[in-house]
Amino acid sequence: MIKSVVSKEYQELQKEIIKLQEKWKLQLDPETIRPNLDKAAMEAGVPVAALTAIDFEISLFLQWVEEINALIIKSIPELEPKLAGIASLLNEEIAINWIEEAFAFNHLYFASFAEENGLEEWIPQFLAETALRPYLQLTAEKVQNEIHRAVPGAGCPVCGEPVRLAALEDEGKKVIHCPRCLAHWHAKRLECSHCGNENHKTVQFLTIEGDSVSQIQVCDECNGYIKIIDTRQYISQPSAALLDLNSIHLDFVAQENSYNVVGEKKQTN
Ligand SMILES: [Zn+2]
Ligand SMILES: [Zn+2]
Repeated sequence: MIKSVVSKEYQELQKEIIKLQEKWKLQLDPETIRPNLDKAAMEAGVPVAALTAIDFEISLFLQWVEEINALIIKSIPELEPKLAGIASLLNEEIAINWIEEAFAFNHLYFASFAEENGLEEWIPQFLAETALRPYLQLTAEKVQNEIHRAVPGAGCPVCGEPVRLAALEDEGKKVIHCPRCLAHWHAKRLECSHCGNENHKTVQFLTIEGDSVSQIQVCDECNGYIKIIDTRQYISQPSAALLDLNSIHLDFVAQENSYNVVGEKKQTN
C-alpha cells in the first residue's frame, strides 16, 4: 500500500510538531500581529501576511528552533549528528534572516545557508518554517472572518501557500483549508484552485480504491491537483495540518499521475 511509503516515524514526528505549534501559538501576544486588510491588494491575490506588521520575538523564535531540534533528535536519534551543531550557528541576525526568508519561500537562501554550514539541505528551511508557522496561524485567526475567497493561482489568501487541500463540509460545500496557516474559505465545486478552470471536461475527480472519503481533483488545463476529503462523517474535525498529513497517500497518487502541487502557468497571448 502506498500509504506506507511515508514512515511511521516521520508521521509521528509531524504530529508532535503540530502539537508544539499549537502550544507556541498560545505564547504569542495577539497584539504583536497587526494585519492591514487592504481590499484591493487582497483582490489582486496579495496574501494578507505580506501586509501584516508582526513584532517577532527573536529569543522566542530561537527557543522554538531549539525545541524542534530536540524533538527531532528524540524521535529520530540517527539525525542527532546532523542537528547537534545548529544551536551554535544561530544568533539574532540569522534568526531575523530565517524569518524573512521563510516568509518569502526563499529556497535558494536556505540551500546556500545549508551548504555554507555543512548541513543537509532540508534542515534550515524546515526549522525556520516550523517556527514561523505559529505567527502565520495567529495572523489567520485574526483575519479569518474577512477571508471569503481566494484568487485562483494566488495560493492561500493569508499566507500564499499553494492550495492543496479541501474538505466537503455541510451540504457538500467545498471549503479549502490551508495546512500551513490553517485559514479556510469557500470555493466553487468544479473550479480549479490553480488556474480558475471550471470546464467539466478538463476538471476531473480521481478516486482511490478502498478510500471512500477522498478524491483528487485534477485539472488538465494546468496539470494541478488538490485533495478533497469528505469530513462530514468525522466525529471530531481534525486540524487541516493533520488532515493534510493523513492524506499524503493522495499526493503520491496525484504525482504518480503527473499532476503537480502548483499548476503550470499557461502562456496567454
Ligand atoms: Zn495559509
Ligand atoms: Zn487548473
